[in-house]
Amino acid sequence: MVRIAVPKETAPGERRVALTPEVVARLVKEGWAVRLEQGAGSSAFFADRDYTSAGAEIALRDELFRDAPVIFTVQPIEKSALVGLEPGTVVAGLMYPHRDPSRVQAMAQAKISVLAMELIPRISRAQSMDVLSSQATVAGYVATLIAARSSPRFFPMLTTAAGTIRPAKVLVMGVGVAGLQAIATARRLGANVWAYDVRKAAAEQALSLGAKVIELPISAEGEGGYARELTLEEQKTQQQALAGEVGKMDVVITTAQIPGRLAPTLLTAEMVGQMNPGALIVDLAAESGGNCELTRPGESVEVGGVKVIGPLNLPSELAVHASEMYAKNLYNLSKLLLKDGILNPDWKDEILAGALLTREGQVVHGPTQVLIEGGVH
Ligand code: NAD
Repeated sequence: MVRIAVPKETAPGERRVALTPEVVARLVKEGWAVRLEQGAGSSAFFADRDYTSAGAEIALRDELFRDAPVIFTVQPIEKSALVGLEPGTVVAGLMYPHRDPSRVQAMAQAKISVLAMELIPRISRAQSMDVLSSQATVAGYVATLIAARSSPRFFPMLTTAAGTIRPAKVLVMGVGVAGLQAIATARRLGANVWAYDVRKAAAEQALSLGAKVIELPISAEGEGGYARELTLEEQKTQQQALAGEVGKMDVVITTAQIPGRLAPTLLTAEMVGQMNPGALIVDLAAESGGNCELTRPGESVEVGGVKVIGPLNLPSELAVHASEMYAKNLYNLSKLLLKDGILNPDWKDEILAGALLTREGQVVHGPTQVLIEGGVH
């Protein structure tokens, strides 16, 4: 039987685990053997005994990767652990190659085949493996809860003996997967919600969730359903047109991203200066530089009474469901790896080829090759 090993995550603050007991049971049924490091699921409240009941074995770290040609992780395995891996081992997880290209080089030197889950092409056939969508769903939900908890106001309208409370005004900027979930969550909490995006399709989706749409003449449809980067002139027009709207809001949640680039600036310091004291911004793009000029990734800053929150790794905060969704994405990927009980990935398959970072001693992902050749470490 082909064995999948799952380590306990070691990245600071990471609470998710790559496989849940439910998914282990499915994998075992389909002919895989599964081994988890002791306590691998404990931060997400999945106990070792639940994994063993599902058919997995539990091991200490020294034994974990022995005789395991496949490894599933959430975050990349530490560099120090790469040297001990058998050449040809297939490792799948979130890899963030641009954050540490030297780690990708170390993966290539270890001669392992690394699949970056976040690079899986977003084609219909790969939807069930789409970790960007599953984890963005979690992030959008958590961002709204953070906003609601940090705001000094109610979100819903209340009519009480102590007077009537008007609903909070929430603006969601960037209406992709995370933004839609942020809108839906803010609506469920009773807020008055506005939405803004540069893609036309986003407006329809936002409307269907009960948001009001801010429309500007700038349309920036890019390839594959993504947005393209705005020109400097378009950015200026956008910022000027949005300033008045932003100034009226109690809460702004930003989620705008351009694949492979720093997040676009949607909120300048000047725009934040026009917001009322007590208003707040939750910047979901903090990890890739932020949509607000004042965002400090991983921190919360206050300027003129306006709080700017730049949370990192939000899916980890909802570790149970984020892990469940992520594990199902990996389960669907596993079907591309095993054929008739034999580990036999077709590396030419569009999905695997798109996600492949390293193989047979080479870095095969073009943009990462460019980073390495350019000496970006
Ligand atoms: P993303 O995380 O790359 O970006 C988030 C949002 O920011 C996008 O809606 C984008 O239009 C918006 N944005 C970018 N620059 C902006 C700017 N300057 N101003 C305002 N908004 C800006 O996007 P995502 O959530 O990963 O997905 C984007 C699209 O891809 C969605 O339409 C989604 O439905 C689609 N998608 C398709 C598939 C599939 O077919 N398998 C899977 C996932 C997502």
